[in-house]
Amino acid sequence: MKAENKGHDKSYTGIDFFRLAAALLIITIHTSPLADFSETGDFILTRIAARAAVPFFFVTSGFFLISRYNYQMGKLCAFVKKTALIYGAAILIYLPVNLYNGYFKMDNLLPNLIKDIVFDGTLYHLWYLPASIIGGAIAWYLVKKLDYKKAFAAAAVLYLMGLFGDSYYGLTEKSLICSSFYALLFQISDYTRNGIFFAPVFFVMGGFIADRKEEAACNELICADSEPRRAESVKDGVCFGLMLALMLAEGLTLHHFQIQRHDSMYVFLPPCVYFLFSFLLQFRGRRRVWLRDVSLIVYLIHPMMIVIIRMFAKLFSMQSLLVDNSVVHFLAVTAASIVFSAAAVGLWGRFGRKRKRHNTDTDRAYVEINLENLAHNAEVLRSALPRGCELMAVVKAEAYGHGMCEIAIHLDKIGVKAFAAATIEEGIRLRRCGIRGEILILGYTAPERAREIRKYDLTQTLIDYDYACRLEEQGCTVKVHMKIDTGMHRLGFDSDFNMEEILCVFAMEHLVINGIYTHLCVADSLEEEDVWFTKQQIANFYGVLKQLKKQGIHVPKIHIQSSYGLLNYPELKCNYVRAGVALYGVLSTPDAQTKLQLNLRPVLALKAKVILLRFVPQGESVGYGRTFVADRDSVIAILPVGYADGFPRNLSGRDSYVLINGNWAPIVGRICMDQLAVDVTDIADVEVGMTATLIGSDGSETIAAPAVAVDSGSITNELLSRLGSRLGRI
Ligand SMILES: *Cc1c(COP(=O)(O)O)cnc(C)c1O
Repeated sequence: MKAENKGHDKSYTGIDFFRLAAALLIITIHTSPLADFSETGDFILTRIAARAAVPFFFVTSGFFLISRYNYQMGKLCAFVKKTALIYGAAILIYLPVNLYNGYFKMDNLLPNLIKDIVFDGTLYHLWYLPASIIGGAIAWYLVKKLDYKKAFAAAAVLYLMGLFGDSYYGLTEKSLICSSFYALLFQISDYTRNGIFFAPVFFVMGGFIADRKEEAACNELICADSEPRRAESVKDGVCFGLMLALMLAEGLTLHHFQIQRHDSMYVFLPPCVYFLFSFLLQFRGRRRVWLRDVSLIVYLIHPMMIVIIRMFAKLFSMQSLLVDNSVVHFLAVTAASIVFSAAAVGLWGRFGRKRKRHNTDTDRAYVEINLENLAHNAEVLRSALPRGCELMAVVKAEAYGHGMCEIAIHLDKIGVKAFAAATIEEGIRLRRCGIRGEILILGYTAPERAREIRKYDLTQTLIDYDYACRLEEQGCTVKVHMKIDTGMHRLGFDSDFNMEEILCVFAMEHLVINGIYTHLCVADSLEEEDVWFTKQQIANFYGVLKQLKKQGIHVPKIHIQSSYGLLNYPELKCNYVRAGVALYGVLSTPDAQTKLQLNLRPVLALKAKVILLRFVPQGESVGYGRTFVADRDSVIAILPVGYADGFPRNLSGRDSYVLINGNWAPIVGRICMDQLAVDVTDIADVEVGMTATLIGSDGSETIAAPAVAVDSGSITNELLSRLGSRLGRI
């Protein structure tokens, strides 16, 4: 599974490092390091420059949360849940401080408490967390409902309203109507610097930057031109400097005229943060998750450190050293916060995170992929194709359990240019792992996802007329293949009656019809009746093409055959053959007769380690339901693989075997979800740690996938495609 991450392990290191810098800037707000030296200097640092820190966090969250192309409610829910959890924990941690401050003795406790929890935070800096939740959700819906321009405009209006309750409040006060409006507002929230007026614009910005970035990356993938990168980065840096200078000037001016009520919101703050973030995005490298975690904890914990250091100083009479000098105080708080956070992250990493490790190794059960055989099969299939016909590799369902990205990347390397997937998610994953050729989605995609289809340059199957209309209505130009139903009666336009509809679709403005195809449903059979039916299907399909031609329509690329279509009807002359199961070197059933006999080699083997050997005396049973009772003293080996891994439970009690040491060992008792038992009484020298073969070869013996499939009452395609994500792959 490693190849999947190739090219994507370039993480946003610049952002990760700046998170820590931003957290330190926020410490300056609460410790005023320059206060002893220059009042103006302190104002510039803590009331203007450091104000970029929280918006930077908002943009970062928006960057990872919001995308026009990928709207999953789950993403927002996860974000809200996580932030709320952190907020809850922070409220609890700071309860003692609240108690100490006499917080709970204030008048109108309940309304104030609600107001603080929703808007202002129960302690100085905690407002950031509810603001993230509210601002993130507002921005998420704005972008979902409107396009970016409108979403941004809406968020900007909110920000503008916020400005006049914050840094520009002095102007507001001059008008009675305005000031009474804001007076009302301040009943609900102490500041306009909150989730409604302040945060949304930054979240929208983050989403916008993310989408622009994705678009650029995708273009790069497809067109392979990546010239003006450096110039861009310099430009962002310069613009950031400029905006920062303007913001400083703005802040000092407002301060000079005493216009500010509060000092969080400036006109030049959003552009300043925008260019800062864009600039930082250019610095790519290893992912630094720990930096992210450390900066979050520093942010949350530093007020506590201020309290602790003050208490400590008082206790040991060290105020003159630790508290009185503003710079030393700042450094002490910073050092304490960082040490605490790093220790917390380190401990969490040691004890909390272990379970997250991914299992892609071979210590349990795994699938072994032979890429040489894959290349061999691709070559054999290609050489069986008529001139002008290309191989379209069907890699749906994890490439029939073989691992989609690895298989596709390898096929791409040996020159396969067309791929077929079942779903848009699979298509997107193929693009993300660097596949450039044509990717056809064979199944249904919600028409609302047209933009994603286009963005990832996928080709969608038109499954019927209504679907085509709905896709057209999206107003977004997408590539499509039209599917014709010639007798399978699953997906596709009806070939008999709807010529008009088919013509109508060809006239649609936003659908670029690059292909037209049909699917055969009994091509695997050479029975007379089935051959007749298949020939009818083929004739129907060509009939449609002929009529299209008659109407003066240029017929796009055509394809009919899947694996069996090619093997039994090799004479057809199409532009593609959509080969799945044959590409993986197996046929659907063990005794399949086909017209064309190709020398295909199985690509996949399924193996598991012997994890336990146990002695079972005669008369004792093994497994659920006690279906197996030992008729002699037996040695039973336990293999850590079961039906949850895709190994069919149906094989229980059906005289099935695995290979150990080149010997046949019968599966005994019922196959469990995660384990199965085999009888190794007759096999010499079996040891714990040995490898058993469930599908594949061991020595001179072979267990073929089609045989296993038929024993379990199914076909190879199902058996392989169910070898789930839980198995490691090598
Ligand atoms: C899955 C699929 C194929 C591939 O079939 P195989 O028999 O595995 O070659 C081809 N075409 C369509 C439409 C499919 O759904």
